[in-house]
Amino acid sequence: MPTIPGICRFCSGGCGALFTVNKNEIVAVRGDPAHPVSQGALCPKAGPDCHRGQPGRVTRPLWRPAGAGEWREITWRQAIARLAARLKEARDAGWVHDDARTDGIAVFGSAAITNEESYLLAKFSRLLGSPYIEHQARV
Ligand code: SF4
Repeated sequence: MPTIPGICRFCSGGCGALFTVNKNEIVAVRGDPAHPVSQGALCPKAGPDCHRGQPGRVTRPLWRPAGAGEWREITWRQAIARLAARLKEARDAGWVHDDARTDGIAVFGSAAITNEESYLLAKFSRLLGSPYIEHQARV
């Protein structure tokens, strides 16, 4: 069975992992001794289960109109346009003119994102005019 080097995706530690794959499925994970940071170590959270795809995972954007019981599949273009419009609405509704900021948006990061992604999240928050940014690591 092939072994593929990669990065554990469970948290922002970014430990180096060697994934053993059988029929496109991860069947084993072990630490990569050549990785400069983790040097072959993995914590107990990094088992193969957390790296497997989930069969019921949603892979296409879905939209449920107000009052409707069923979700409808929409295109990525439609989903992004809706998100952008709602984001602008929330930003404008909470805009504080004197401070040039919005109280309508808060940004919440994840313990699974890297330093670089956290940096981009902070930039995104400031771009929107929101000073409200938090990270799960502090919770
Ligand atoms: S979950 Fe454990 S092994 Fe995976 S990146 Fe985080 S600390 Fe490393």
